[in-house]
Formats: sequence, C-alpha cells, structure tokens
Amino acid sequence: MIKEKLYGKTLDELVAVTKKAGLPGYSAKQMADWLYRKEINTIDEMTNLSKKMREKISSEYEIGLSAPADVSESRDGTKKYLFKVLSDKYIESAFIPGKNRATLCVSCQAGCRMACIFCMTGRQHFQGNLSSNEILNQFRSIPEFSNLTNIVFMGMGEPLDNIEEVLKSLEILTSEWGYGWSPTRITLSTIGLKNRIREFLEKSRCHLALSLHSPFDRERARLMPVQKSSPVREIIDIIREYDFSGQRRLSFEYILFSGLNDTPAHIKELARLTRGLRCRINIIRFHEIPGTELKSPAPDEAERFRDALNKQGIPATVRASRGEDIGAACGLLSTLEQNKQKINQ
Ligand code: SF4
Repeated sequence: MIKEKLYGKTLDELVAVTKKAGLPGYSAKQMADWLYRKEINTIDEMTNLSKKMREKISSEYEIGLSAPADVSESRDGTKKYLFKVLSDKYIESAFIPGKNRATLCVSCQAGCRMACIFCMTGRQHFQGNLSSNEILNQFRSIPEFSNLTNIVFMGMGEPLDNIEEVLKSLEILTSEWGYGWSPTRITLSTIGLKNRIREFLEKSRCHLALSLHSPFDRERARLMPVQKSSPVREIIDIIREYDFSGQRRLSFEYILFSGLNDTPAHIKELARLTRGLRCRINIIRFHEIPGTELKSPAPDEAERFRDALNKQGIPATVRASRGEDIGAACGLLSTLEQNKQKINQ
C-alpha cells in the first residue's frame, strides 16, 4: 500500500489528517512542530500522540523524506544533488556555499514544458510537477540543511507552471507553524506567465527574479517561446502594480550570449523597459550546452556589459559562475542520469 506523505503538508492539510484520525484540532499544530521544527524522521517520534494514535496514523501515512540518489562536488564547494522523484524521474538541486551565506537552488518540476532554447531542462520536455513534499525534501534531506541561509526556486522547471505546490512550499517555509523563515531569504525565479504571476505576487512576499534575456520581443521569442503567450512588457506592467520599495526585491536575470544580446541597442532598450522600477539586473554568462550555436561570452565581455548598464543608472552585477567543473548548466546531471537509466533498461 502506498502511504501518503506528511512532510510537505500545510497546516490546513494537517488539520484534515488529524480530524480524520479523530484527534483534537490542536494536534495539527503539534504535528507541524514535529515535522518542521523538531525534524523527526518517523511518526513514532511524535511522542505527544498516544502509541495507539501513532500506529493508526502510521497505517495510512509516512513522513516521506528521501535521501539524494547522488551528489557531485565542484572544486569551488558547489554541490549538485540528484533526487529521484515521481517514481522514476530525476531532478537536481544545487548547494552553493558563499562567504556569508549558503544557498540552495531547488527544482519544482521534472523537465519543463517551456522549451527555452538555451536550457538543458527544456530539452527533457515536461515529465511532471513535483509535490510540495518533493520540493521541500530537496531542502530537508541534504547534509547542509541546518546551515542554509537562502533558497532560490531557480532549478529545473518553471515555478509558476506548478504554482499550487510551489505556494504550499513557500507557506511551509515562511509560516510561524512551519520553518518560520523570512520571505526575504527566498527568491522565486520565473520566465513570467501572465495568468499566474499575480497569484504569486499576492500570496507571497518572497523576492521575484524575472528571466528577461532580451528586451526585444522577436529576439526573446526566439530564445523563449513563452514570449508569444506572455509578452515580457505585459509581465512588467503587472509587476509595476506591486510594491518593491521595501524589503521585497525585484531582479531581472539576463543570460548573456556572446554576439547576440550584448549590444548598445540592448542596453538602451533595457534602460527603457526597466525605467522607474527599483530593480537590479543579474548578468549570467551563458554556459554552453551541447547542440546549440549560442556562445558563452568571455568574463570581460560580461563586465563591460555590466558597466554599460551601470552608466545608464541600472544597478547590474555579473553572477559568479559556480560549479563549472560539475556541469553548471541546470539539467545536465539529470539528463545524464536519465540516459544512463535508459541504457540499463
Ligand atoms: S529556462 Fe526555466 S523555464 Fe526555460 S526551459 Fe529551462 S527550466 Fe524551463
């Protein structure tokens, strides 16, 4: 019998579990405390429930944590964890240690249906949405769990395409009955889906990173097919309705491709597009992937682009490349693992 997983359930969902078991209402909070504060691994450790009750709950539920299937470690300390999800798929999470922070980049889907041409995950096509259990398990089941300072939803998949489970994960991470993290420690990175972005902006206070990659409609549509159904100008118009003047941060991710999106015309248009917004542009040097003509820029090209943006009054930074020796491009490791599994079948 496949048991339901308790880890990854919101307080409302735990109330339903306790009601069904005939427990008083307050036991849902106690259960949340065991799951998200006391970090138990078995239902039997919920010692404020009677033995009989623990047995009853265990007959239908399990905690539902699972260790990574593999890990690769870079010379710079970055680690890529591989997790098995949806019974036979693989996803990646990247642990990125820094001077004063330790960030985990989590995945929210196996594969992705957005088909951005520069992305290995896009090539895997869509294989399924992760549940909040599978999203949060990436955070809870790595050895660095207790040292983590930040989480970015920037791994495999498009978070707004799995908004229900992503919002549940954010609720568990930021509620006082959950992990109690400040939303300012969490960033959701999206390519921008116009019928979903409002829901995220209204239901969460986490930071937003919008993947821009080109300010020109036709060029962006060639890189990211989503531009046709969710034009970036419409997404930015929606973003302008929300308050980013306080602690909540807005940033634009800009993958720099040599000779493509790095001209003075791009800088001028980026300045026009972001005018009046309190934001930052994060420049990311493209990591080359097999089978594409897109080229990675030299480090000094990225720095020149950053300086030119700064001159226009746009705060911009070049994100340091991490984990290049273990395949920094997201989706490489899981693609290799999936190919390995196919060969072994
Ligand atoms: S860049 Fe993001 S949205 Fe685009 S295909 Fe890759 S995972 Fe999906």
